Amino acid sequence: MPLLEFDNGFYCRQGDFYIDPYRPVDRAILTHGHSDHARSGMKHYLAHTESELILKARLGADAVIETLPYNVPVTINGVKVSLHPAGHIVGSAQVRVEYQGEVWVVSGDYKTEDDGISTPFEPVRCQHFVTESTFGLPIYQWEEQDVIMEKMYQWILKNREKGRASVLVAYTLGKSQRIVHGLAKYGIKIYAHGATVNMNEAVRPFRPELPMIEKLTKDTPKEDVLQGAILCPGSALDTPWLRRWYPYAVGVCSGWMQVRGAQRRRNADAGFVLSDHADWPGLLDAIEATGAENVWATHGFSSTLARFLTEERGLNGQVVKTQYGEEEE
Ligand SMILES: [Zn+2]
Ligand SMILES: [Zn+2]
Repeated sequence: MPLLEFDNGFYCRQGDFYIDPYRPVDRAILTHGHSDHARSGMKHYLAHTESELILKARLGADAVIETLPYNVPVTINGVKVSLHPAGHIVGSAQVRVEYQGEVWVVSGDYKTEDDGISTPFEPVRCQHFVTESTFGLPIYQWEEQDVIMEKMYQWILKNREKGRASVLVAYTLGKSQRIVHGLAKYGIKIYAHGATVNMNEAVRPFRPELPMIEKLTKDTPKEDVLQGAILCPGSALDTPWLRRWYPYAVGVCSGWMQVRGAQRRRNADAGFVLSDHADWPGLLDAIEATGAENVWATHGFSSTLARFLTEERGLNGQVVKTQYGEEEE
């Protein structure tokens, strides 16, 4: 019997706990606060310290959440468990599980570029590595974050000249904080959707250097909005809340913007290729650094990645079907 089974997320029979389960269980260990990994209904949660306020905001104030810093092992029914930085969002963790010399690492979602907000990814040696594969195709290769932020800033200036507001569309958790952080050096003030403000506030106690953002209301002066940028989730597009600020241009911030046609399909005026997931070289580097012989590819282009690892790298690459990947909103 392997140490982890692919049942309702990842189940450790020896330790009797689940990692990122979909259905209610007694004991859940969460990799991070995105809604496809952090679901309600668990009796007890264990997550990284910096995920606590995010999880409280999403799972409800009465959720029982125990937290743990990175690199501090605990023992659950004889199984050694520890959390390690995944570099995906604030509080995101890889879960290392060890029993009788067998070591697994479930990485959740991760990225290898240091985004200046999340604790940077640290590879963890193991025999079995469970990797996401959201962008597991060679066409996905990201530019550096600074380059993307400069493009975003230039776009905002252009919109300003044309007398239209700039609307940046991004996940409320993770990407929005990167944008707030990245545009701060240009002095761009952010006017945000309430959901975005809430996530910013859940992160700020752990990142006091992250600028506060202002909630966009009908009383916000139009001239101020024109000088700054509106930040909101995709669900806010085509709502009266946003339409009030017309004329505006919409810039979608997502790794999917790398694909030709994606911008048009989302009716965006601009696409910024900014992702919280590893690109193809990032995935390969991360996998190699674990030294794992067995690599289990989940959500994304899992079969492409697993085949590549088996055929080109001599590893035991396999596909695991999971229910992750529909990240919030
Ligand atoms: Zn995620
Ligand atoms: Zn995910």
